[in-house]
Parts: sequence; structure tokens; C-alpha cells
Amino acid sequence: MRKYNFCAGPAALPEPVLRQAQQELLDWRGLGCSVMEVSHRSPEFVEVAERAEQDLRDLLTVPDNYKVLFLQGGATGQFSAVPWNLLGADSKRADFIHSGQWAAKAIKEARRYGEVNVVASSEDRNFSYVPARGSWQQSEGAAYLHYTPNETIGGIEFDYVPEVDCPLVADMSSNILSSPIDVEKFGVIYAGAQKNIGPSGIAIALVREDLLDRAMGNIPRSLSWKVAADAGSMDNTPPTFAWYLSGLVFQWLKAQGGVEAMAEQAMKKSTLLYEFLDASDFYSSPVEKSSRSRMNAPFVLADDRLDKQFLSEAEKAGLLSLKGHRSVGGMRASLYNAVPYEAVEALVAFMADFEARRG
Ligand code: PLP
Repeated sequence: MRKYNFCAGPAALPEPVLRQAQQELLDWRGLGCSVMEVSHRSPEFVEVAERAEQDLRDLLTVPDNYKVLFLQGGATGQFSAVPWNLLGADSKRADFIHSGQWAAKAIKEARRYGEVNVVASSEDRNFSYVPARGSWQQSEGAAYLHYTPNETIGGIEFDYVPEVDCPLVADMSSNILSSPIDVEKFGVIYAGAQKNIGPSGIAIALVREDLLDRAMGNIPRSLSWKVAADAGSMDNTPPTFAWYLSGLVFQWLKAQGGVEAMAEQAMKKSTLLYEFLDASDFYSSPVEKSSRSRMNAPFVLADDRLDKQFLSEAEKAGLLSLKGHRSVGGMRASLYNAVPYEAVEALVAFMADFEARRG
């Protein structure tokens, strides 16, 4: 029996997608083998790859002057790829908004290749809020500004897109496809797949075409967006199964009503949980109200000696992966697209019952 899965990543996938994959696993398209066992250059796989790209373009309304790249190395690979690809032209300087642990990792990696200016930070209050719009200034001649619209560990989410006059780069690993975005406001958007896209092993980057010729001369081939773009993301063997499964998720998303429907669901699900947390003295959210993520909701019990009990009873009740990130403790419920509203209802009912018995 499938249970409700609140894992932050690799995260729950839509059940119909898994069923379809299961059904066609041994004999894909009557070829007598699985999708994992055919050449990535076969017409059958190329069709899957092209359809996945087109569906993603449709879902996010990606303009024609953006390349859609299917990459390896996860979002962490893009922490390196971003400076390698963007700090090779006029400027070796990049601006960053520091909003938590994932931003910190991107900053640390970029510092190996250029001058990094942290132009805004929420470190003063333990990254529990989003730096306010307009509360910071970009530095002169920056090659790009990087930010993390959703911090998966801290559970904060930007409710605005920074306005800058250099290319804006966003790590959307944990909130891509959860609401409509205006792609034109960004130079580069990237995301690891394993939350709202598909299985781990693949990452996606949307790169505005004019940014493809700013790479450092000695860029490793496997990190080059230009090489990937010129080769249709097949300069070497791509992760074909992850690409195929991501494509099925895109089709499922379209059938659900696209990112508009996902945004509505995300708001409903997160509101249900946050309203419950706010009404309780037994549980609380460490994140300031206006900055709370719709995707990742960390919360704590007033008495952390009950944490273990809470987690073990939750698991017995069919609610998986509620343990907070190892660096912060407490609990975290991730509410990505494939987590149904009923899962959050079940979670809240369990939490209320636990409180009644232990509070
Ligand atoms: N950025 C964010 C916001 C994330 O949540 C994660 C992983 O959870 C990463 C980057 C790193 O992704 P990957 O494990 O694909 O390198």
C-alpha cells in the first residue's frame, strides 16, 4: 500500500506516473525492452526527450530565446556551472542573496571562481525570513545575481522576484512548477529534479540564449551550457530513465491543469497546515508568517523529548518522512505537487490526535 510521503527529496511522485512506468517497464512501446535499454539516439527516445522539453516549455511558457537543458550533476552541479558559465566575459563579480543553507552552498562554490558579494542576508534572525524587496542594492558590474526562491531546509519562500539590471539566476530546485513564473525576468533558472520534476539523477536549466557565450575558456565540457545546448542535452549519454519519467510527470501536470492548478493546491495545502500550527501551543513554526514556504514546512514540538514518539507514531499512521533536516532537527513536512490535499488532512488529523494524547 502506498503511504503519504512528506519527504523533502527525493520526494513523492504522482501515483499514476509510477503506475504507467510500471506497466511499460519490461516492454516499452512494443520494442521488447525497457526505456532504459534503448539508445538515447533512437527515434523512440528522441521523441520522448523532445516531448518532455515541449511539455515543460508549455507548462512554464518558456520563450523561444531560452534553451531548455536536461543535465547531470544535480542542482549542486549547477552551483559550479553558474560561475563557470557566467564569469568568463567582462565581469568576475557576482551578487548573491543569502537566505539559508542552499544559498550558502551556492555562495561557497561561486567564491572559488570569482568575487562574491552578499547583497542581502537574513542571517541575523537565523534565516527565518525573506530579505525584503528593495532592502538591498546590487553591486556595480555584477555578472549576475543569484538567489534561492525557496529554501528547502529553512522553509522560507520568496513572494517576489528581485528586480535587477543584471541577469537574474534562480535555484528553483524546490519550488519549480508550483506556480506560474515570468521566465523573462530570469537569465537562468535551474532545478534538481527530485522534488517537483521527477526522480533524482537529472537537473533542468532554462538559459537565455545570449548568456551562452560568457563561459570561462577552460570550462569543463560537462558543465558547459553551450555544449549541452548545441548537443540537445545529449553531448554524452543522458539519464534516460529520469528524463522519461520527468516527461510523464509533465504530462500528468498538464492533465491536472498545469502550474496554475498546482499553485492553488499548494496554497490550500500549506494554509491548512500553517493555520493548524498557529492555532496550537503544542506545535509551532520557526518561520516568520509572511515568509513561509508553500513547499517545505518545518515545525517543532514544544517538548522536543516527544520528537521520537511523534515520528514513530506518524510512520505507523502511514505518514512518511516527517523528520526535520539533520542540521536543524524538529519536523518538516514537504508538500510538493505530488502530495495530495488528503495527505495534509491526514497529517493535521494525526497531529491533533497526538496533541490530545500527549499535550
Ligand atoms: N538547491 C536546493 C534549493 C535544494 O533543495 C537542493 C537539494 O535538496 C539542492 C540545491 C541540491 O540538489 P542536488 O542534490 O540535486 O545537488
